[in-house]
Amino acid sequence: MARILITGGAGFIGSHLCERFLAEGDEVICIDNLITGNADNIAHLFPNRHFSYIPQDVTNYIYVKGPLDAILHFASPASPIDYLELPIQTLKVGSLGTHKALGLAKEKGARFLLASTSEVYGDPLIHPQKEDYWGNVNPIGPRGVYDEAKRFAEAMTMAYHRTHGVATRIVRIFNTYGPRMRLNDGRVVPNFIAQALRGEDLTVYGDGSQTRSFCYVTDLVEGLLRLLRSDYDGPVNMGNPQELSVLEFAHRIIALTGSRSRITFRPLPVDDPRVRQPDIALARRLLGWEPRVSLEDGLQETIHYFGERVGV
Ligand code: UDP
Repeated sequence: MARILITGGAGFIGSHLCERFLAEGDEVICIDNLITGNADNIAHLFPNRHFSYIPQDVTNYIYVKGPLDAILHFASPASPIDYLELPIQTLKVGSLGTHKALGLAKEKGARFLLASTSEVYGDPLIHPQKEDYWGNVNPIGPRGVYDEAKRFAEAMTMAYHRTHGVATRIVRIFNTYGPRMRLNDGRVVPNFIAQALRGEDLTVYGDGSQTRSFCYVTDLVEGLLRLLRSDYDGPVNMGNPQELSVLEFAHRIIALTGSRSRITFRPLPVDDPRVRQPDIALARRLLGWEPRVSLEDGLQETIHYFGERVGV
């Protein structure tokens, strides 16, 4: 049995991780300050005696009693709407929070896994994106708070690895979706599904020709466990390489929900990446990992989840 600390454990991906490690028979400590996480995501875990929750902002000193085998640093606002509203917290959790979590890993001799992002590639000039691409990020644009925080977090992680010998892992997560995303987090999946279920127009930003590639959360979590258990310390892309335009995605959601909603066009947000698709050759080779859940199946699960919450 391992003792695992998950920062951001009450968030979307974090809560799925808590659940998965408990299912593996591990002990899980979840830290979250609930600014974008939600206690409802972990409420069902409270009766489990192997689960505990510490309400805390990880940008402050983190105290955890006893040994730790692994720390997964998943705390951060992760939706463009959230990090535009919380720019300073986003920068702080990526920088100060990563520093605190790494310090704890060093102290405990724990393995450290950083949740990084496809946003380190910014508006990419290489397509699909491979791990050796350095990215095209606007440091002073509104999205820069997230992109640069995560780029700094990667740099800090590598520095702790090189200087202090901490066993580190870095995952660059591409668009991931599934149950427990926040209905109002502003991302395309909850927005389109909620709009379709309510019979409202789907708000496509720009002309909808920008592309994204969507990975179902359980596929991601499987990859994260494999990466944590591997001995590879460089960044690894994780996502589903199936790419589609935002406009195509809107049509899929309308078809899957059987909605009578129509599509309306809104301005494209500043620095919205034109394309995004992971090259996952490295994860395939290193970890024997690739996504298994089809977009249709994953969206059905997600639509079901939101269907119980939109109140229509
Ligand atoms: N988007 C959209 N309508 C919405 C929300 C998002 O067209 O109601 C677009 C957004 O401009 C972007 C893509 O969908 O091109 C994915 O946006 P999301 O916020 O999910 O995450 P991102 O991939 O940009 O980090």
